[in-house]
Amino acid sequence: MSGSVRTLSQKVWDSHLVREEAGAPSLLYIDLHLVHEVTSPQAFSGLRARGLKVRRPDLTVATTDHSIPTTDRSLPILDPIAANQVAQLDKNCKEFGIPHYGVHSEHQGIVHVIGPELGFTQPGMTVVCGDSHTATHGAFGALAFGIGTSEVENVLATQCLLQRPSQTFKVHVDGTLRPGITAKDIILAFCAKVGIGGGTGTVLEYTGAAIRALDMEGRMTVCNMSIEAGARAGMIAPDDTTFQYLHGRPFSPKGADWDAAVARWKRLPTDDGARFDREVSIDGDSLEPMITWGTNPGMGVSISGAVPEPSSISDPLERDAVAKALSYMGLEAGKPILGRPVNVVFIGSCTNSRITDLRAAAAVLKGRKVNPNVRVMVVPGSMEVKRQAIAEGLPELFREAGCDYREPGCSMCIAMNGDQLQPGEYSVSTSNRNFEGRQGKGGRTFLASPLTAAAAALTGVVTDVRTIL
Ligand code: SF4
Repeated sequence: MSGSVRTLSQKVWDSHLVREEAGAPSLLYIDLHLVHEVTSPQAFSGLRARGLKVRRPDLTVATTDHSIPTTDRSLPILDPIAANQVAQLDKNCKEFGIPHYGVHSEHQGIVHVIGPELGFTQPGMTVVCGDSHTATHGAFGALAFGIGTSEVENVLATQCLLQRPSQTFKVHVDGTLRPGITAKDIILAFCAKVGIGGGTGTVLEYTGAAIRALDMEGRMTVCNMSIEAGARAGMIAPDDTTFQYLHGRPFSPKGADWDAAVARWKRLPTDDGARFDREVSIDGDSLEPMITWGTNPGMGVSISGAVPEPSSISDPLERDAVAKALSYMGLEAGKPILGRPVNVVFIGSCTNSRITDLRAAAAVLKGRKVNPNVRVMVVPGSMEVKRQAIAEGLPELFREAGCDYREPGCSMCIAMNGDQLQPGEYSVSTSNRNFEGRQGKGGRTFLASPLTAAAAALTGVVTDVRTIL
């Protein structure tokens, strides 16, 4: 149990402790368990083998997102592995009584998009999912983290999880973002500043004026990539922006329950005087659009910067890692990133596939044509985002600009569904990982914001969107 003056994450931790024992992991109660088709089949098989039921099907929600094709949903799934995963999840959810937003559901979408938009994700909750980017839900002041397949089975069976407490890490982003700078640039700048191991063993809490000024979609983008700095989770204290977003959502509390919930949620923010184990500051006023040049999300620079020069790095391990990344990416040391030709632009993923992301890209592309040498894929995060986009005329706008506008799913974020780069191709991608082969074997990924991605779609090269806006 933490002291009387506590941080946001400590408050959520304390209120979910089932059992604590010196020297052993703590037992934590889980409020919301999100399930998808890739990391759940073994977990359900495990339950079946042990003759167990799902302890709280009412606190468990499933969707199909990772391997689902983003083409016409009325057509059969041709890939036998994907077809089997999709069918298996459907069968498992029926057998174990879990609500499932499957292929033909009006609420289907990426797990980290539908949880918040349906109002399942709420402040003060513990949220888990067999997916690394569960930290997304921390944008609501939830303690949310990814778990492994055996843990998925444990949570299904017991609604509890063994966990060790994390250290607390405050990421303070002050100032006002200038035009062309987005939430994605904040989190890419943080990853570049601390590196992929910089947040290891911690729960991040993002604070400061630049964070407070973000809408919920922007906050989700920031929290989503907490894992890319090695953190267990990332959180933002709930405020009026949070409450307005949640009010009236299908699974948000209603009536007197809503009032009681908001009163409870208002007690969650970190207490004055609470101490964090670590702190770092970022100046929001001076941020520029960010882009990655390497093979992990910490290998990023501002758009006007240059890729590093290994010979100038004294640490031998870091020098080798940079040289290896440059070799994979086919980039010349010390050269500017601006002007690099790209083959593909991907606007989508649980980092940047929400309506505000699509609107941002559309604002750049409106009335223009994408470069004929670039394949541009726009993939909404959910059926709800798709409906909103249709209401605003965005699909026509994207298609008239020459984009390939798709059905909701993870798509080229993870390239499990056939949407992928060819070997050697370069993409500017709004997703969250630029690992070797992440978007297809031999594919090379520059991570960036929807604005920067849309700018590259128009010019065919890495571009500073501020020159277009
Ligand atoms: S979009 Fe990418 S990171 Fe997000 S849930 Fe899907 S595969 Fe995971």
